[in-house]
Amino acid sequence: MPEGEKPANVYVSALEQLRGAVEKLKLDPGVARLLALPKRELTVHFPVRMDDGSLQIFTGHRVQHSVLRGPAKGGIRYHPDVTLDEVRALAMWMTWKCAVVNIPFGGGKGGVVCNPKVMSLGELERLTRRYTTEITPIIGPEQDIPAPDVYTNPQTMAWLMDTYSMHKGHTVRAVVTGKPVSIGGSEGRVEATGRGVVITGLEAAKRLGMDITRCTVAVQGFGNVGAVAAQLIEREGARVIAVSDSRGGICNPKGLSVSAVLAHKAKSGSVVGFPGSEPVSNEELLTLKCDILIPSALEEQITERNAARIHARLIVEGANGPTTPAADRILFDRGITVVPDILANSGGVTVSYFEWVQGIQEFFWTEEEVNERLKAILTRAYGQVHDMADKHRTDLRNGALMLAVSRVAEALRIRGVYP
Ligand code: GLU
Repeated sequence: MPEGEKPANVYVSALEQLRGAVEKLKLDPGVARLLALPKRELTVHFPVRMDDGSLQIFTGHRVQHSVLRGPAKGGIRYHPDVTLDEVRALAMWMTWKCAVVNIPFGGGKGGVVCNPKVMSLGELERLTRRYTTEITPIIGPEQDIPAPDVYTNPQTMAWLMDTYSMHKGHTVRAVVTGKPVSIGGSEGRVEATGRGVVITGLEAAKRLGMDITRCTVAVQGFGNVGAVAAQLIEREGARVIAVSDSRGGICNPKGLSVSAVLAHKAKSGSVVGFPGSEPVSNEELLTLKCDILIPSALEEQITERNAARIHARLIVEGANGPTTPAADRILFDRGITVVPDILANSGGVTVSYFEWVQGIQEFFWTEEEVNERLKAILTRAYGQVHDMADKHRTDLRNGALMLAVSRVAEALRIRGVYP
Protein backbone atom coordinates (compact mmCIF):
# COMPACT_ATOMS: atom_id res chain seq x y z
CA MET A 1 0.00 0.00 0.00
CA PRO A 2 1.36 3.43 -0.85
CA GLU A 3 2.15 5.72 2.04
CA GLY A 4 -0.57 8.10 3.21
CA GLU A 5 -3.50 5.85 2.21
CA LYS A 6 -6.81 7.21 3.52
CA PRO A 7 -9.96 5.20 4.20
CA ALA A 8 -11.61 4.00 1.04
CA ASN A 9 -14.80 6.06 1.43
CA VAL A 10 -15.06 7.23 -2.17
CA TYR A 11 -14.77 3.74 -3.58
CA VAL A 12 -17.33 2.51 -1.06
CA SER A 13 -19.69 5.27 -2.28
CA ALA A 14 -19.14 4.33 -5.93
CA LEU A 15 -19.93 0.69 -5.12
CA GLU A 16 -23.04 1.66 -3.18
CA GLN A 17 -24.28 3.73 -6.12
CA LEU A 18 -23.63 0.82 -8.49
CA ARG A 19 -25.48 -1.57 -6.17
CA GLY A 20 -28.58 0.66 -6.28
CA ALA A 21 -28.64 0.66 -10.09
CA VAL A 22 -27.93 -3.08 -10.31
CA GLU A 23 -30.86 -3.87 -8.00
CA LYS A 24 -33.30 -1.68 -9.89
CA LEU A 25 -32.14 -3.13 -13.22
CA LYS A 26 -32.29 -6.69 -11.79
CA LEU A 27 -28.90 -7.47 -13.33
CA ASP A 28 -27.36 -10.93 -13.24
CA PRO A 29 -25.20 -11.22 -10.05
CA GLY A 30 -22.14 -12.28 -12.10
CA VAL A 31 -22.45 -9.22 -14.32
CA ALA A 32 -22.89 -7.03 -11.24
CA ARG A 33 -19.71 -8.45 -9.69
CA LEU A 34 -17.77 -7.83 -12.91
CA LEU A 35 -18.89 -4.19 -13.07
CA ALA A 36 -17.87 -3.64 -9.44
CA LEU A 37 -14.23 -4.48 -10.21
CA PRO A 38 -11.67 -2.59 -12.30
CA LYS A 39 -10.54 -4.52 -15.37
CA ARG A 40 -6.89 -3.55 -15.02
CA GLU A 41 -4.78 -1.66 -12.46
CA LEU A 42 -1.19 -0.51 -12.68
CA THR A 43 0.71 1.02 -9.77
CA VAL A 44 4.15 2.45 -10.40
CA HIS A 45 6.86 3.84 -8.12
CA PHE A 46 9.36 5.94 -9.99
CA PRO A 47 12.20 8.42 -9.39
CA VAL A 48 12.31 12.08 -10.38
CA ARG A 49 15.41 14.28 -10.16
CA MET A 50 14.40 17.41 -8.23
CA ASP A 51 15.81 20.89 -8.85
CA ASP A 52 18.02 20.67 -5.73
CA GLY A 53 19.70 17.55 -7.13
CA SER A 54 17.94 15.09 -4.82
CA LEU A 55 16.08 12.02 -6.04
CA GLN A 56 12.44 11.82 -4.99
CA ILE A 57 10.34 8.68 -5.43
CA PHE A 58 6.71 9.12 -6.51
CA THR A 59 3.79 6.71 -6.65
CA GLY A 60 1.28 6.75 -9.49
CA HIS A 61 -1.67 4.67 -10.64
CA ARG A 62 -3.58 4.06 -13.83
CA VAL A 63 -6.81 2.11 -13.52
CA GLN A 64 -8.95 0.89 -16.41
CA HIS A 65 -12.38 0.12 -15.04
CA SER A 66 -14.01 -1.04 -18.27
CA VAL A 67 -13.20 -1.31 -21.97
CA LEU A 68 -16.47 -2.96 -22.94
CA ARG A 69 -17.77 0.02 -24.95
CA GLY A 70 -14.40 1.21 -26.29
CA PRO A 71 -10.94 2.28 -25.09
CA ALA A 72 -10.59 3.34 -21.46
CA LYS A 73 -10.94 7.11 -21.09
CA GLY A 74 -10.29 9.46 -18.23
CA GLY A 75 -8.09 12.08 -16.69
CA ILE A 76 -4.88 12.09 -14.68
CA ARG A 77 -4.87 13.81 -11.31
CA TYR A 78 -1.88 15.23 -9.43
CA HIS A 79 -2.75 15.60 -5.75
CA PRO A 80 -1.19 14.72 -2.37
CA ASP A 81 -4.32 12.76 -1.35
CA VAL A 82 -4.45 10.46 -4.39
CA THR A 83 -4.99 6.81 -3.44
CA LEU A 84 -5.56 3.67 -5.46
CA ASP A 85 -9.13 3.44 -4.12
CA GLU A 86 -9.85 7.01 -5.18
CA VAL A 87 -8.54 6.30 -8.68
CA ARG A 88 -10.67 3.12 -8.78
CA ALA A 89 -13.80 5.10 -7.94
CA LEU A 90 -12.99 7.82 -10.44
CA ALA A 91 -12.31 5.22 -13.16
CA MET A 92 -15.66 3.57 -12.50
CA TRP A 93 -17.42 6.94 -12.71
CA MET A 94 -15.73 7.54 -16.08
CA THR A 95 -17.26 4.31 -17.41
CA TRP A 96 -20.73 5.49 -16.39
CA LYS A 97 -20.07 9.03 -17.63
CA CYS A 98 -19.09 7.91 -21.13
CA ALA A 99 -22.07 5.57 -21.25
CA VAL A 100 -24.56 8.25 -20.10
CA VAL A 101 -23.61 10.50 -23.02
CA ASN A 102 -23.29 7.41 -25.24
CA ILE A 103 -19.77 8.00 -26.55
CA PRO A 104 -17.76 4.89 -27.54
CA PHE A 105 -15.39 4.77 -24.58
CA GLY A 106 -14.96 2.77 -21.44
CA GLY A 107 -13.62 4.30 -18.23
CA GLY A 108 -10.18 4.86 -16.75
CA LYS A 109 -8.34 7.21 -14.45
CA GLY A 110 -4.82 8.01 -13.37
CA GLY A 111 -3.29 9.74 -10.41
CA VAL A 112 0.11 10.63 -9.02
CA VAL A 113 0.63 11.28 -5.31
CA CYS A 114 2.39 14.65 -5.36
CA ASN A 115 1.90 18.29 -4.43
CA PRO A 116 2.17 20.22 -7.69
CA LYS A 117 1.89 23.52 -5.79
CA VAL A 118 5.39 23.13 -4.38
CA MET A 119 6.98 21.76 -7.57
CA SER A 120 8.71 23.77 -10.29
CA LEU A 121 7.69 23.54 -13.94
CA GLY A 122 10.84 21.51 -14.65
CA GLU A 123 10.06 19.05 -11.85
CA LEU A 124 6.47 18.67 -13.09
CA GLU A 125 7.70 18.05 -16.64
CA ARG A 126 10.14 15.36 -15.49
CA LEU A 127 7.45 13.76 -13.28
CA THR A 128 4.98 13.75 -16.19
CA ARG A 129 7.48 12.30 -18.66
CA ARG A 130 8.54 9.53 -16.28
CA TYR A 131 4.97 8.67 -15.20
CA THR A 132 3.96 8.55 -18.90
CA THR A 133 6.87 6.21 -19.61
CA GLU A 134 5.82 3.96 -16.72
CA ILE A 135 2.21 3.66 -17.94
CA THR A 136 3.07 3.51 -21.66
CA PRO A 137 2.52 -0.28 -21.85
CA ILE A 138 -1.20 0.15 -21.13
CA ILE A 139 -2.11 3.48 -22.78
CA GLY A 140 -2.63 4.29 -26.46
CA PRO A 141 -5.20 5.78 -28.87
CA GLU A 142 -7.05 2.47 -29.07
CA GLN A 143 -6.45 1.27 -25.51
CA ASP A 144 -6.58 4.02 -22.96
CA ILE A 145 -6.62 7.77 -23.55
CA PRO A 146 -5.68 10.10 -20.66
CA ALA A 147 -6.83 13.72 -20.24
CA PRO A 148 -6.50 16.52 -17.70
CA ASP A 149 -8.05 16.38 -14.23
CA VAL A 150 -7.32 18.06 -10.88
CA TYR A 151 -4.02 20.05 -11.12
CA THR A 152 -3.12 18.82 -14.60
CA ASN A 153 -3.68 20.92 -17.72
CA PRO A 154 -3.04 21.20 -21.49
CA GLN A 155 0.70 21.64 -20.88
CA THR A 156 0.78 18.35 -18.91
CA MET A 157 -1.00 16.65 -21.84
CA ALA A 158 1.51 18.10 -24.33
CA TRP A 159 4.40 16.54 -22.33
CA LEU A 160 2.49 13.26 -22.15
CA MET A 161 1.87 13.21 -25.91
CA ASP A 162 5.47 14.14 -26.65
CA THR A 163 6.88 11.44 -24.36
CA TYR A 164 4.61 8.72 -25.78
CA SER A 165 5.45 9.89 -29.33
CA MET A 166 9.22 9.79 -28.65
CA HIS A 167 8.91 6.16 -27.56
CA LYS A 168 6.91 5.27 -30.70
CA GLY A 169 9.17 7.21 -33.05
CA HIS A 170 6.37 9.29 -34.54
CA THR A 171 3.76 11.75 -33.35
CA VAL A 172 0.72 10.03 -31.83
CA ARG A 173 -1.86 12.75 -31.41
CA ALA A 174 -4.80 10.63 -30.28
CA VAL A 175 -3.04 9.12 -27.24
CA VAL A 176 -4.27 12.01 -25.12
CA THR A 177 -7.01 14.65 -25.12
CA GLY A 178 -7.08 18.09 -23.56
CA LYS A 179 -3.92 19.00 -25.53
CA PRO A 180 -3.21 22.57 -26.58
CA VAL A 181 -4.98 23.48 -29.84
CA SER A 182 -1.60 24.22 -31.48
CA ILE A 183 -0.68 20.50 -31.41
CA GLY A 184 -4.02 18.96 -32.27
CA GLY A 185 -6.27 19.80 -29.34
CA SER A 186 -9.89 20.74 -29.89
CA GLU A 187 -11.38 24.18 -29.86
CA GLY A 188 -13.68 24.48 -26.85
CA ARG A 189 -12.07 21.65 -24.83
CA VAL A 190 -10.74 23.85 -22.03
CA GLU A 191 -14.20 25.32 -21.37
CA ALA A 192 -16.14 22.12 -22.13
CA THR A 193 -16.63 20.78 -18.60
CA GLY A 194 -17.83 24.12 -17.21
CA ARG A 195 -19.96 24.68 -20.30
CA GLY A 196 -21.59 21.28 -19.79
CA VAL A 197 -22.30 22.09 -16.14
CA VAL A 198 -24.19 25.19 -17.26
CA ILE A 199 -26.02 23.43 -20.13
CA THR A 200 -27.28 20.66 -17.82
CA GLY A 201 -27.92 23.12 -14.96
CA LEU A 202 -30.09 25.30 -17.22
CA GLU A 203 -31.95 22.24 -18.41
CA ALA A 204 -32.71 21.31 -14.79
CA ALA A 205 -33.67 24.89 -13.86
CA LYS A 206 -36.06 25.05 -16.80
CA ARG A 207 -37.79 21.83 -15.74
CA LEU A 208 -38.07 23.14 -12.16
CA GLY A 209 -39.63 26.38 -13.42
CA MET A 210 -36.70 28.46 -12.11
CA ASP A 211 -35.98 31.71 -13.94
CA ILE A 212 -32.17 31.78 -14.22
CA THR A 213 -32.04 35.59 -14.28
CA ARG A 214 -33.49 35.56 -10.76
CA CYS A 215 -31.19 32.85 -9.41
CA THR A 216 -28.25 33.21 -7.05
CA VAL A 217 -25.35 30.78 -7.41
CA ALA A 218 -22.54 29.53 -5.14
CA VAL A 219 -19.57 27.75 -6.72
CA GLN A 220 -17.12 25.64 -4.71
CA GLY A 221 -13.80 25.34 -6.55
CA PHE A 222 -12.48 27.95 -8.94
CA GLY A 223 -10.37 25.78 -11.22
CA ASN A 224 -11.01 24.78 -14.81
CA VAL A 225 -14.55 23.62 -14.03
CA GLY A 226 -15.82 26.07 -11.39
CA ALA A 227 -14.37 29.26 -12.85
CA VAL A 228 -15.75 28.55 -16.33
CA ALA A 229 -19.15 27.49 -14.95
CA ALA A 230 -19.30 30.70 -12.87
CA GLN A 231 -18.49 32.83 -15.91
CA LEU A 232 -21.00 31.14 -18.19
CA ILE A 233 -23.85 31.09 -15.69
CA GLU A 234 -23.25 34.77 -14.96
CA ARG A 235 -23.54 35.37 -18.72
CA GLU A 236 -26.96 33.68 -18.58
CA GLY A 237 -28.07 36.35 -16.14
CA ALA A 238 -27.64 34.53 -12.80
CA ARG A 239 -26.00 36.28 -9.83
CA VAL A 240 -22.86 34.51 -8.56
CA ILE A 241 -22.76 35.30 -4.85
CA ALA A 242 -19.92 33.05 -3.63
CA VAL A 243 -16.88 31.23 -4.98
CA SER A 244 -13.95 29.44 -3.35
CA ASP A 245 -10.67 27.70 -4.03
CA SER A 246 -8.36 25.51 -1.95
CA ARG A 247 -7.35 28.51 0.22
CA GLY A 248 -10.92 29.56 1.13
CA GLY A 249 -13.95 31.36 -0.20
CA ILE A 250 -15.52 34.77 -0.70
CA CYS A 251 -19.12 35.91 -0.62
CA ASN A 252 -21.13 38.96 -1.60
CA PRO A 253 -24.94 38.58 -1.56
CA LYS A 254 -25.20 41.46 -4.05
CA GLY A 255 -23.15 39.46 -6.54
CA LEU A 256 -19.49 39.08 -7.51
CA SER A 257 -18.09 40.08 -10.88
CA VAL A 258 -16.65 36.75 -12.01
CA SER A 259 -14.17 38.30 -14.45
CA ALA A 260 -12.89 40.63 -11.70
CA VAL A 261 -12.49 37.64 -9.33
CA LEU A 262 -10.57 35.79 -12.07
CA ALA A 263 -8.25 38.77 -12.51
CA HIS A 264 -7.73 38.93 -8.72
CA LYS A 265 -6.89 35.21 -8.61
CA ALA A 266 -4.49 35.55 -11.56
CA LYS A 267 -2.65 38.28 -9.65
CA SER A 268 -2.72 36.97 -6.08
CA GLY A 269 -3.02 33.21 -6.58
CA SER A 270 -6.40 32.90 -4.82
CA VAL A 271 -9.94 34.30 -4.79
CA VAL A 272 -9.41 35.08 -1.08
CA GLY A 273 -9.15 38.79 -0.28
CA PHE A 274 -11.22 39.93 -3.25
CA PRO A 275 -12.20 43.57 -2.56
CA GLY A 276 -15.76 44.07 -1.33
CA SER A 277 -16.32 40.43 -0.36
CA GLU A 278 -16.75 38.64 2.96
CA PRO A 279 -14.59 35.59 3.68
CA VAL A 280 -16.34 32.19 3.93
CA SER A 281 -14.84 28.76 4.41
CA ASN A 282 -15.28 26.02 1.81
CA GLU A 283 -17.58 24.27 4.28
CA GLU A 284 -19.71 27.39 4.92
CA LEU A 285 -20.08 28.09 1.21
CA LEU A 286 -22.08 24.90 0.75
CA THR A 287 -24.83 25.98 3.16
CA LEU A 288 -25.11 29.61 2.05
CA LYS A 289 -28.50 30.97 1.06
CA CYS A 290 -28.59 30.54 -2.73
CA ASP A 291 -30.71 28.91 -5.43
CA ILE A 292 -28.07 26.90 -7.25
CA LEU A 293 -25.01 25.23 -5.74
CA ILE A 294 -22.19 24.06 -8.01
CA PRO A 295 -19.61 21.92 -6.14
CA SER A 296 -16.62 21.85 -8.51
CA ALA A 297 -13.74 20.82 -6.30
CA LEU A 298 -13.16 17.38 -4.80
CA GLU A 299 -15.12 14.37 -3.59
CA GLU A 300 -17.19 13.99 -0.43
CA GLN A 301 -18.12 17.61 0.21
CA ILE A 302 -21.87 17.17 0.72
CA THR A 303 -22.30 14.52 3.40
CA GLU A 304 -24.86 13.52 6.02
CA ARG A 305 -23.28 16.20 8.25
CA ASN A 306 -24.33 19.18 6.11
CA ALA A 307 -26.99 17.88 3.67
CA ALA A 308 -29.85 18.94 5.97
CA ARG A 309 -28.51 22.52 6.00
CA ILE A 310 -28.16 23.03 2.24
CA HIS A 311 -30.31 25.94 1.08
CA ALA A 312 -30.02 25.53 -2.69
CA ARG A 313 -32.95 24.08 -4.63
CA LEU A 314 -30.65 22.77 -7.32
CA ILE A 315 -27.18 21.22 -7.08
CA VAL A 316 -25.14 20.75 -10.25
CA GLU A 317 -22.09 18.56 -9.69
CA GLY A 318 -19.07 19.97 -11.50
CA ALA A 319 -16.78 17.78 -9.40
CA ASN A 320 -16.65 14.00 -9.45
CA GLY A 321 -18.30 12.43 -6.41
CA PRO A 322 -18.97 15.57 -4.32
CA THR A 323 -22.10 14.04 -2.72
CA THR A 324 -22.10 10.88 -0.60
CA PRO A 325 -24.95 8.34 -0.93
CA ALA A 326 -26.19 9.20 2.60
CA ALA A 327 -26.37 12.89 1.65
CA ASP A 328 -28.15 11.97 -1.60
CA ARG A 329 -30.97 10.36 0.40
CA ILE A 330 -31.34 13.44 2.61
CA LEU A 331 -31.40 15.78 -0.40
CA PHE A 332 -33.94 13.58 -2.17
CA ASP A 333 -36.25 13.63 0.87
CA ARG A 334 -35.91 17.41 1.05
CA GLY A 335 -36.91 17.78 -2.61
CA ILE A 336 -33.55 19.20 -3.70
CA THR A 337 -32.66 18.31 -7.29
CA VAL A 338 -29.13 17.02 -7.92
CA VAL A 339 -27.79 16.91 -11.46
CA PRO A 340 -25.28 14.08 -10.90
CA ASP A 341 -21.59 14.32 -11.78
CA ILE A 342 -21.70 11.65 -14.49
CA LEU A 343 -24.15 13.85 -16.40
CA ALA A 344 -23.33 17.37 -15.17
CA ASN A 345 -19.58 17.26 -15.79
CA SER A 346 -19.63 14.98 -18.84
CA GLY A 347 -19.05 17.95 -21.17
CA GLY A 348 -15.29 17.55 -20.70
CA VAL A 349 -15.06 13.95 -21.83
CA THR A 350 -17.59 14.61 -24.60
CA VAL A 351 -15.33 17.23 -26.16
CA SER A 352 -12.39 14.90 -25.45
CA TYR A 353 -14.20 12.45 -27.70
CA PHE A 354 -14.54 15.17 -30.34
CA GLU A 355 -10.81 15.87 -29.99
CA TRP A 356 -9.93 12.19 -30.42
CA VAL A 357 -12.18 11.94 -33.50
CA GLN A 358 -10.74 15.13 -35.02
CA GLY A 359 -7.18 13.90 -34.40
CA ILE A 360 -7.79 10.53 -36.03
CA GLN A 361 -9.51 12.14 -39.03
CA GLU A 362 -6.96 14.96 -39.23
CA PHE A 363 -9.95 17.21 -39.79
CA PHE A 364 -10.68 19.97 -37.29
CA TRP A 365 -13.92 21.73 -36.39
CA THR A 366 -14.68 25.32 -35.42
CA GLU A 367 -15.52 26.22 -31.84
CA GLU A 368 -19.14 26.86 -32.88
CA GLU A 369 -19.39 23.32 -34.30
CA VAL A 370 -17.88 21.85 -31.14
CA ASN A 371 -20.24 23.79 -28.85
CA GLU A 372 -23.28 22.97 -30.93
CA ARG A 373 -22.54 19.22 -30.96
CA LEU A 374 -21.80 19.32 -27.23
CA LYS A 375 -25.13 20.96 -26.49
CA ALA A 376 -26.99 18.44 -28.66
CA ILE A 377 -25.38 15.47 -26.88
CA LEU A 378 -25.90 16.84 -23.36
CA THR A 379 -29.50 17.86 -24.00
CA ARG A 380 -30.30 14.42 -25.37
CA ALA A 381 -28.57 12.71 -22.43
CA TYR A 382 -30.38 14.93 -19.93
CA GLY A 383 -33.74 13.98 -21.46
CA GLN A 384 -32.91 10.27 -21.36
CA VAL A 385 -31.73 10.45 -17.73
CA HIS A 386 -34.83 12.41 -16.75
CA ASP A 387 -37.13 9.87 -18.42
CA MET A 388 -35.34 6.95 -16.76
CA ALA A 389 -35.59 8.62 -13.33
CA ASP A 390 -39.26 9.43 -13.88
CA LYS A 391 -40.11 5.92 -14.99
CA HIS A 392 -38.53 4.38 -11.90
CA ARG A 393 -39.65 7.16 -9.50
CA THR A 394 -36.10 7.85 -8.45
CA ASP A 395 -33.62 10.73 -8.51
CA LEU A 396 -31.47 11.84 -11.44
CA ARG A 397 -28.39 10.09 -10.02
CA ASN A 398 -30.12 6.71 -10.03
CA GLY A 399 -31.63 7.49 -13.43
CA ALA A 400 -28.21 8.32 -14.88
CA LEU A 401 -26.57 5.26 -13.31
CA MET A 402 -29.34 2.96 -14.53
CA LEU A 403 -29.03 4.31 -18.07
CA ALA A 404 -25.23 3.97 -18.00
CA VAL A 405 -25.04 0.57 -16.32
CA SER A 406 -27.67 -0.87 -18.66
CA ARG A 407 -25.66 0.30 -21.69
CA VAL A 408 -22.45 -1.28 -20.36
CA ALA A 409 -24.27 -4.51 -19.43
CA GLU A 410 -25.79 -4.64 -22.93
CA ALA A 411 -22.30 -4.33 -24.46
CA LEU A 412 -21.20 -7.31 -22.36
CA ARG A 413 -24.28 -9.33 -23.29
CA ILE A 414 -23.95 -8.77 -27.04
CA ARG A 415 -20.16 -9.23 -27.12
CA GLY A 416 -20.42 -12.38 -25.04
CA VAL A 417 -17.87 -13.83 -22.65
CA TYR A 418 -14.53 -14.96 -24.06
CA PRO A 419 -13.61 -17.79 -24.60
N1 GLU B 1 -11.05 14.51 -16.01
C1 GLU B 1 -12.28 14.80 -16.70
C2 GLU B 1 -13.42 14.06 -16.06
O1 GLU B 1 -13.37 13.69 -14.91
C3 GLU B 1 -12.17 14.62 -18.20
C4 GLU B 1 -11.83 13.23 -18.67
C5 GLU B 1 -11.56 13.12 -20.16
O2 GLU B 1 -11.72 14.10 -20.88
O3 GLU B 1 -11.17 12.04 -20.57
O4 GLU B 1 -14.46 13.87 -16.65
